[in-house]
Amino acid sequence: MSNIRLEALKIAFEHKPAVVEEPKGKVKDYFAQDVFSREKMKEYIAQDVLDQLFDDVDNGRTIHREIAGVVAIGIRKWAIEHGATHFTHWFQPLTGGTAEKHDAFFTLKNGALMEEFSGESLYQQEPDASSFPSGGIRNTFEARGYSAWDPSSPVFLIGDTLCIPTVFVAYTGEALDYKTPLIRSTASLCHAAREVCAYFDKQVKHVHANLGWEQEYFLVDEALYNARPDLMLTGRTLMGHNSAKSQQLEDHYFGAIPARVLAFMRELEYEALKAGVPVRTRHNEVAPNQFEMAPIFEDVNLANDHNLLVMSIMERVAEKHHFRVLLHEKPYAGVNGSGKHCNWSMSTNTGINLLAPGKNPYQNLQFITFLVNVLMAVQRHNGLLKASIVSATNEHRLGANEAPPAIISVFLGKQISEVLDKLEHASAEEAIIINAKKEMKLGVANIPEILLDNTDRNRTSPFAFTGNRFEFRAVGSSANCGAAMLALNAAVAEQLMLFKEEVDARIEQGEPKERVLFDVIKKYIVACKAIRFDGNGYSEEWKTEAAKRGLDCETSVPLVIDRYLSDTSINMFERTGVLTRAELQSRSEVKWETYVKKLQIESRVMGDLVVNHVLPAAKRYQTMLLQNVLAVKQVFSADETASLNAMDYSIIKQIEEHSGAILDGVERMTEARHKANRQPDERAKALAYHDNVLPLMAEIREHADALELIVDDEMWTLPKYRELMFIH
Ligand code: ADP
Ligand code: MG
Repeated sequence: MSNIRLEALKIAFEHKPAVVEEPKGKVKDYFAQDVFSREKMKEYIAQDVLDQLFDDVDNGRTIHREIAGVVAIGIRKWAIEHGATHFTHWFQPLTGGTAEKHDAFFTLKNGALMEEFSGESLYQQEPDASSFPSGGIRNTFEARGYSAWDPSSPVFLIGDTLCIPTVFVAYTGEALDYKTPLIRSTASLCHAAREVCAYFDKQVKHVHANLGWEQEYFLVDEALYNARPDLMLTGRTLMGHNSAKSQQLEDHYFGAIPARVLAFMRELEYEALKAGVPVRTRHNEVAPNQFEMAPIFEDVNLANDHNLLVMSIMERVAEKHHFRVLLHEKPYAGVNGSGKHCNWSMSTNTGINLLAPGKNPYQNLQFITFLVNVLMAVQRHNGLLKASIVSATNEHRLGANEAPPAIISVFLGKQISEVLDKLEHASAEEAIIINAKKEMKLGVANIPEILLDNTDRNRTSPFAFTGNRFEFRAVGSSANCGAAMLALNAAVAEQLMLFKEEVDARIEQGEPKERVLFDVIKKYIVACKAIRFDGNGYSEEWKTEAAKRGLDCETSVPLVIDRYLSDTSINMFERTGVLTRAELQSRSEVKWETYVKKLQIESRVMGDLVVNHVLPAAKRYQTMLLQNVLAVKQVFSADETASLNAMDYSIIKQIEEHSGAILDGVERMTEARHKANRQPDERAKALAYHDNVLPLMAEIREHADALELIVDDEMWTLPKYRELMFIH
């Protein structure tokens, strides 16, 4: 007997660790070898042009076309010398992932070979935008969208293609991607944070937002993947009974990395390093066949480009090792899902991390100021921040018992909580003593320079302070981090503006600066108590408590998406110049639409799997049992057969019941889907899919998984959880 699963298993067992060639030299010799870095630009572009370019980039100004023209010639020369034949504008549409449109450097004109890559093609391109989601923006405003060079992120090579990081906008300027508003949000945050820094240090000219992402992923053998239509078409298993052993023993987390996986990781690291991504850590994660990769943090825009680049490198390298990488947040039910923790901080051009305690009282007051303002921003926009991370795929991870809960709260840890408590109850005289030399002493709030030992970590918190940064853990593994980062940057920027307004108004009244800062911070410490929670985020009590505190407790993804369109969100985004009302409307449309499409595909695949894979296997096995019962009857006496057949009868009946339930479920699911598709708009469709289709998929799955336990192993055609998770 043979079936596709058994064939796939044979192939999978033959896969051996691939031989990986180490690049020549030390890491510093090949790091960023595929990147046209500032250093390399000096060899190809005149210094005065570069001075102008870097000055414009560093100060967020638009690049002149003449400059772009000269830079383009340098880029082309470098790229062609390094084997490039094509170039592409590389951008980040709202569907997630990245999009590319490749053009050759050369073209034939009247029989002669012409160089095609001009300043114009570096600067701007018009991809066929009609197939990227715009949530109606292009229809309402103007049919064309174009991509434009983001000179703050360096161009790089993938194979024979020069990739130019670009923004993607409608002809009228509305953002159709993640990069555009992310860049706007960093500009807004930079400005607002610099103004607040001026209370403490006039030297600060520039504030950066930093991002250090931690990418979790699963690997699965390619042959087994190919035998699972659900993995291929939806990125997750829509059914599959739990493996008897999965992550209970936690032996994978601490275990050695398997040889085949190690080979994959080494090649992935070499490729990432060559592409200029400063990858640093690699290790096993909690679930079997789950792993993580993390680079050193960088400026948020560059870090996000690097994350997207690494996601595509992963997919490419995995294929060479006969693996498929699963970036889905929840490929398997019952074991840990994958997130992408976004470590976020702000730092100044003077080298100060604004979220780390400093060396003197002034720096510490500055640290507390930024910390408390972040708390205020996260509290005010907790619903929006949740909206920035929800999706049809992350939905399966949030709120489950091993992932961030679906309520945004902030963990601060014991040390910082104590500092805030002390400040809250201190008088200005106690807290801020200004001596004869006009030096400030933070009397009560002695903050240790190094915060949080590793034991003071709360894994259940979706947004945790980890000593010198915040870790936004609710972000999904397949997401573009930009969505979450731009919401956070903008929310904090708005909050810093509000803070400054309040402080300035009182200083103008003649009150001393230190006292005003202290008073306002103290008021904020009291005001932001609702968002602070150091307890167990998974507990039932927390859900009740969070609702009492007025935090957003909605769990339905289509309803959470509404938070983009609340007055609080629209005002904040418009005030900071990050997104307009129209852009927010279009983004929500795209979110609903994507949600609908994903669930529609899942539901169809589910129907196909149970009807064409599960039921035929079950029926075949049932027929075999029925034949056995008849045969037994012919051989044994009636008395004997009663007990002999008890087990067969029981299984025959169970198969009959589960099969009936599945057919009934599929019928109702199809009906629910058709009804959902007839809803008048994307939001209503998304709601109908969430409320009526999703629960039926869970119901059908239960019966399919029950059949998997009963049916003869050799007849089962879909690779099982133990095979998907333990073969490497
Ligand atoms: P963990 O203990 O969470 O695994 P790591 O030390 O491995 O933490 O760091 C996780 C990520 O946080 C890395 O990408 C690292 O570069 C990043 N990170 C460290 N410090 C900062 C910071 N100040 N701002 C932003 N990211 C940071
Ligand atoms: Mg971490």
